[in-house]
Amino acid sequence: MANEKEPAHTDELLREREARLQSILETAPDAILVINEAGSIESFSPAAERLFGYAAREVVGRNVHILMPSPYHERHDSYIRNYLETGERRIIGIGRVVVGQRKDGSAFPIELSVGEAIIGGKRHFTGFIRDLSERQLTENRLHELQMELLHVSRLSDVGQMAATLAHELNQPLAAIINYVQATRRMLQAEMSHVSPKVTEAMDKAVAQAARAGEIIRHLRSFIRRGETERQIEELNNVVEEATALALVGAKESGVNVRWVLGTEPMPVLIDKVQIQQVVFNLIRNGVEAMADHPIPRDLVVATALVEMDTAQIAISDSGPGLAPNVQAQLFQPFVTTKERGMGLGLSICKTIIDSHSGRLWADPNVKRGATFYIALPIAREGEGKAI
Ligand code: ADP
Repeated sequence: MANEKEPAHTDELLREREARLQSILETAPDAILVINEAGSIESFSPAAERLFGYAAREVVGRNVHILMPSPYHERHDSYIRNYLETGERRIIGIGRVVVGQRKDGSAFPIELSVGEAIIGGKRHFTGFIRDLSERQLTENRLHELQMELLHVSRLSDVGQMAATLAHELNQPLAAIINYVQATRRMLQAEMSHVSPKVTEAMDKAVAQAARAGEIIRHLRSFIRRGETERQIEELNNVVEEATALALVGAKESGVNVRWVLGTEPMPVLIDKVQIQQVVFNLIRNGVEAMADHPIPRDLVVATALVEMDTAQIAISDSGPGLAPNVQAQLFQPFVTTKERGMGLGLSICKTIIDSHSGRLWADPNVKRGATFYIALPIAREGEGKAI
């Protein structure tokens, strides 16, 4: 006998499952949306409505790219196509920090995880979205980033100290070696008999001084190596993530952000966290520079492949531009025009970019504001594999 409570038909079963799914969608704190293979939105949870400012009925049936700023807006269809053709996963099952766009056009950082399901022979993608601009989360992440930045600065201080020590100590050590060897020669020239014990002791002194020099050289290269962990990364992904985080609060300060990302592949061999700290710092500086400045407050983040062998990032603002008294020593430590500034950000950025064999510089814009540039060498084939 069939249990009366159990739905008799498959249809009913399906309906019940649907209702259960709907209740999950309605109560989940994270925004959830489902799209099909064509990128068209099939379901949009109440949390997603609150997050993006669209009602579900306004977006269901439309392309999901309406929730992304340019250039992702234009590129999203090709991302899906690329996945369907190659099976190469860039986001599915990985989860990344990306940029979303609300109905009012403002961009904001989100953490996106995408799952994939095949239902009735059709493929669907489910996006779980967490708002990173929520105060709590943001503050935690900002705090983490600041701690990481401090850590980098301490590491580079140690590296700097070791390099200076090595340089300072190598000279007196070389002098000791020269003096002892000269004394040995003078003794042999001026005295008819020099005890072998004396020459032996002098030879030992020379060997020990040489060894001390070796130790310092080792220490120096050890610290240099230990400082970074480098891998091949795609520059646009690195920039996108760092920008999303740096954007927090940008809308509140009335800043419009625009991306102009290069379409060529730009693989770079980098310590991702360090490079993201540089981008993060430059964007925050731009946003801060524009904070008390009249509108428009425009920030442009651009990437480009330059002369085939260099990846370039440009961060441009429409603020007051560089103050004449800091321009010449912009990248020196403790140079600041801010009341509560430490003047360390740009000097650390420079250390990081230098250690990547790159270049960091700033130029005034023609109209207003400043542009900071980062140039990094494109990774060569096979590079980074041994690391
Ligand atoms: P801090 O932000 O603590 O002052 P930084 O090293 O990051 O330290 O910056 C040093 C100085 O460079 C700032 O105080 C400011 O005068 C100047 N500066 C940096 N970025 C910009 C910018 N985008 N526009 C104008 N001035 C800038």
